[in-house]
Amino acid sequence: MELAIISGKGGTGKSSISAAFATLSEKVVLVDCDVDAANLHILFNPTELEEQVYVGSQKAIINEELCTNCGICIDYCRFEAISNIEDKVTISETSCDGCKLCSRICPFQAISMQSNDKSRMFSGNFRNGKMVYGRLAPGEENSGKLVNIVRAQAKKISKLNDLKTIIIDGPPGIGCPVISTITGVDSVLIVTEPSISGLLDLKRTVEITTKFNLKTWVLINKYDLNEDLTDQILSFCVEAKINIAGKLPFDPKIVEAMVNCKSITEYAPESEIATAIAIAFKTITNGKD
Ligand code: SF4
Ligand code: SF4
Repeated sequence: MELAIISGKGGTGKSSISAAFATLSEKVVLVDCDVDAANLHILFNPTELEEQVYVGSQKAIINEELCTNCGICIDYCRFEAISNIEDKVTISETSCDGCKLCSRICPFQAISMQSNDKSRMFSGNFRNGKMVYGRLAPGEENSGKLVNIVRAQAKKISKLNDLKTIIIDGPPGIGCPVISTITGVDSVLIVTEPSISGLLDLKRTVEITTKFNLKTWVLINKYDLNEDLTDQILSFCVEAKINIAGKLPFDPKIVEAMVNCKSITEYAPESEIATAIAIAFKTITNGKD
């Protein structure tokens, strides 16, 4: 089973729940696809790490010795990445899209393209199996592509080690990296919370999972902070025919667990929240509504 855990917005507790699910399983492949801000490796401190370079994009670089400051490239760059600053033509690394146009039109061959090789993919062992995660370099794009590579590696490891469960901690939002995270998985769990923005984000996320025809579950975190909104979320799920995995009470122990580098399942296994998470996990893995 490949399960992707996502949320329409950050801060819903998605990573804590992914960590708990990973430690409820005997042996899993745990995948952190939040490549812009991967953090599960901090919690699980994987060993025997293998590191692979990920070349996400190219950036244009000016050779100052060849550049005559003619300014032709400035007019051609539709990303407005090139400008003349104090009589020197300069390219902004963060604005450059890597389209290569400037390198082709420069009459003095003063622009070359340089591969950005600062992003990485890691795979290793952790206490409940194998772990794979990506780390996109600051300012680097193509996070969806890195997510695809991370997922492919996780599948390979799962086959090689006969680990049947893959748990993916997805990125927040509904953009390209999220689409890359959920495409082709067996189930998606959307973690939400009872707030107006939580409900709106949930609706937008469900639109996407419905469009991709994915089996979708909803888990309401901190449900007791606003029981009216929790009821609205539950009604929405019933109307939209979305499976409800459960609801979790607010419990500061979940943060304490993370601070102690443990999942809530490891830190406070008898707590109400750990029990509710275990039931939700069983519900999803058994495929019951
Ligand atoms: S087109 Fe070439 S020579 Fe002219 S400003 Fe750009 S980099 Fe310099
Ligand atoms: S590679 Fe494309 S985006 Fe980057 S500076 Fe050149 S023209 Fe602009």
